[in-house]
Amino acid sequence: MRYTEYLLPTLKETPADAEVVSHRLMLRAGLIRKVAAGIYNYLPLGLRSLRKVEQIVREEMNRAGAHELLMPMVVPAELWQESGRWQQYGRELLRFKDRKEADFCLGPTHEEVITDIVRHEVRSYRQLPLNLYQIQTKFRDEIRPRFGLMRGREFIMKDAYSFDLDDAGADAAYERMYQAYRRIFQRCGLNFRAVEADTGNIGGSSSHEFMVLAESGEDAIVSCDSCEYAANVEKAELRAPATDEPTPTEGLKKVLTPARKSVEEVAAFLNTSPQKLVKTLIVQTDKGETLAVLLRGDRELNDIKLCRLLDCAWVEMAGEEVVLKATGAPSGFAGPVGLKLRILADREVQGLADFITGANEKDAHFTGVNLGRDFAVEAFADLRKAVAGDACPRCEGRLQIWRGIEVGHVFKLGTKYSEALNAVVLDDQGRERVLVMGCYGIGIGRTLASAIEQNHDADGIIWPLPIAPFEVLVVMLNPNDAEVKAAAEQLYAELLGEGVEVLLDDRDERPGAKFKDADLLGIPLRVTVGARGLKDGQVELKERAGGAVAMLATVKAAEDIAARLRSARVHG
Ligand SMILES: [Zn+2]
Repeated sequence: MRYTEYLLPTLKETPADAEVVSHRLMLRAGLIRKVAAGIYNYLPLGLRSLRKVEQIVREEMNRAGAHELLMPMVVPAELWQESGRWQQYGRELLRFKDRKEADFCLGPTHEEVITDIVRHEVRSYRQLPLNLYQIQTKFRDEIRPRFGLMRGREFIMKDAYSFDLDDAGADAAYERMYQAYRRIFQRCGLNFRAVEADTGNIGGSSSHEFMVLAESGEDAIVSCDSCEYAANVEKAELRAPATDEPTPTEGLKKVLTPARKSVEEVAAFLNTSPQKLVKTLIVQTDKGETLAVLLRGDRELNDIKLCRLLDCAWVEMAGEEVVLKATGAPSGFAGPVGLKLRILADREVQGLADFITGANEKDAHFTGVNLGRDFAVEAFADLRKAVAGDACPRCEGRLQIWRGIEVGHVFKLGTKYSEALNAVVLDDQGRERVLVMGCYGIGIGRTLASAIEQNHDADGIIWPLPIAPFEVLVVMLNPNDAEVKAAAEQLYAELLGEGVEVLLDDRDERPGAKFKDADLLGIPLRVTVGARGLKDGQVELKERAGGAVAMLATVKAAEDIAARLRSARVHG
């Protein structure tokens, strides 16, 4: 490809409305352009990378025994009414009428359509297992689309659906998809973790999110430094702490703590550490209950764990009035001694003695507080958030904390849709059986954006080779110099002959501008053809990642570069 014949509009200025790195760089490097909020054009360079991700996904899905098909983006309401989602789904589902006043929606996901296909076309267990997928444009009418391809309204997804006769079959399908996903993200050249996800009412470990690790990720995840365990921070199980029976040595004593409310303020005032405090959170649930939750002073409550324990939808910190009514003191001074509320505590509190709590009185705390002797706890449970350095629940390793961007999700669906749409087959005894389903998504554009979030520097993108739009950029330093022009043209032709994907920067621009664009575009190898090097029969090769520079003999340059790329593809 010749730059002068290509549509590759790079921007020097950072676009004002782009909040995250991938969005900024995709605009600046001429990969995408906005059409409307959350809706983008993929320009030629962006489309090249997008197609590469798609191709890797396609090859691995096919290898795992899935079959590609294509369903429509426009879906009739009837199917969504049958599953009940026409009513349940919020305004993210873009509903509209055609000219005959019939209801339709733009599919944000295709469980209904695929189940409809299977219930009509699959009648016997002999046609199973079956796994069907598509790579299709989806639409979700996000209220606040932002971050470019990271959270658009229109987006390209690979979605796969597996159908099996029973749970064992569905588990095997899930495992095949899990392994395929690992290969996909490895082949894309990304650093990722497969994280156990919350399955809501389905339960078990039948849901994993694939997270690309990046500082800008919206999800905090933990992973073990020595085994495969990884989970969302909200979900991360914690190993039960060693339960040494605590031995009280101090008596209960009230101390004045004027205007000291936070754990840090109280600890500093009493000249001790936050670990010596037990904080008492007054919490309200969606069921209207007010209760107290105890945590070690330096810990944070994990709402999701508490909700699971209480079997409620949400919890929130009680407001000032409720705290005053429940404890007799303004917030900041709550404590378990004499408290007339149900008290739950994190397991860690069970091992503490002689700690400090609020005294349910303005400007006062208790020291020397002890469990059992001074107050009772109804139940101890794992209620705190994981932190770096916590023990792994599965092995002797330690947990690390990362930030991640969700790019894929595998989910064992069960029979939710097959029951609703009556998708059944006859088993070998001639009995009707409801199909057991799984669904498996990958955000194609999101994968691309997350690759940039993970791989960039101050100057621009640093593409992983497998999904780079081009492998090599040949920079023709001065196209008006006949010798330079001829050498660059020849190298370009030779690289094409070697099957290398190459972009030739043949623009009549200053070298500085060309190098700036080269860094911005992030093509893995840059070859500079200039008059000075040619005098010595050489061209300069520079790696975008790491910046290593090597001089290559002009006559052998194409061959050398092709060999490097072959070896990178094998070892990458
Ligand atoms: Zn571990």
